[in-house]
Amino acid sequence: MKRKEFLKKSIIATVAGTSILSACAPDKKLDTEQTNTINYNKIHRWKMVTTWPPNFPVLGEAANLFAEMVEKMSGGRLLIKVFGGGQLVPPLEAFDTVASGTVEMGCGAAYYWTGKSPATQFFAAVPFGMNAQMLNSWLVSGGGYELWKEVYARFNLIPLMGGNSGVQMGGWFNREINSIEDFKGLKMRIPGLGGKVIEKAGAAAVLVAGSELYTSLERGVIDALEWVGPYHDYKMGFHKIAKYYYSPGWHEPGTELEFFMNNKAYEKLSSDLKEIVQSASQRIQNWMLAEFDFQNAIYYQKILEEEKVEVKKFPKPVLDSLKNYTVQSLEEVIGSDPISKKVYEHYKDFLKKASVYNKLTEEAYYNLIAK
Ligand code: CA
Repeated sequence: MKRKEFLKKSIIATVAGTSILSACAPDKKLDTEQTNTINYNKIHRWKMVTTWPPNFPVLGEAANLFAEMVEKMSGGRLLIKVFGGGQLVPPLEAFDTVASGTVEMGCGAAYYWTGKSPATQFFAAVPFGMNAQMLNSWLVSGGGYELWKEVYARFNLIPLMGGNSGVQMGGWFNREINSIEDFKGLKMRIPGLGGKVIEKAGAAAVLVAGSELYTSLERGVIDALEWVGPYHDYKMGFHKIAKYYYSPGWHEPGTELEFFMNNKAYEKLSSDLKEIVQSASQRIQNWMLAEFDFQNAIYYQKILEEEKVEVKKFPKPVLDSLKNYTVQSLEEVIGSDPISKKVYEHYKDFLKKASVYNKLTEEAYYNLIAK
């Protein structure tokens, strides 16, 4: 083999090997010959409970796609019946239902489970945290997925990456935000840590069910709301009732979605089925960001061309203040929980390095092509 060709092949092998070994490696403790014969002909029938309404665009569709792919790849040996939120159990009971083993699998976003462990939010989204690309690097190659497994193991769960939304939008406002003072008295639907952050700025973070968002904003029960991005927001019709559409989604810079499995159910699978669920997870990881980025770009044009909405960016001093409040909020919620601290330190370290490097590459390039 010529030296050049050899080098090329080695590089390809190394690159492929790194990603596979870091996050999706087969369990080396298992004897392949043995596990491939155990239950090899058994048909597993699983249920998956989700936190989304049935067939919800992109997120619910991902759950359905996952089940379809697994059924095809396994030749019908692993059948997963998907239930929308509320069909089998209420959406936010998915975690406990799978942890207890009542159901084998769930689908959601890890920040819904901060009441179980504050560490979970680092595997979904934190304000001013990693974007989709950084989070994917941290999870797949940087040891993030190992930490995620460690956090979920306490609940008898095994997580799987389940796609990413990309940077979300900052939300729909009927009040202009020119300074941090404008958050005073603002009633906004914004869940999670983002809500805690705006409360530090004097706003009220209000919980409103998805089905009541439109009327709440229309009737002035709330002054602002955040949902997802142009694709989902357009379908909800918010452009008809809000004056301003703000960017960026500082509170959700790239929300990672997830699947999670009961560990006893997972251990009953033969080694090939275990690889199949990992492979389906990686296909969803790839598909979801593509789908979000594509649909959002298309629907943003629709909003620009067809609607009378003013699209605005949060002023830099406002974002700086929100960032300071975020650091305070994070310190508070993590408190003295050792595993949350461990995950936070690991996360922060890569976020810093990736941000410095991306200034040279991604940021520089986006600025180059922006018009
Ligand atoms: Ca959101």
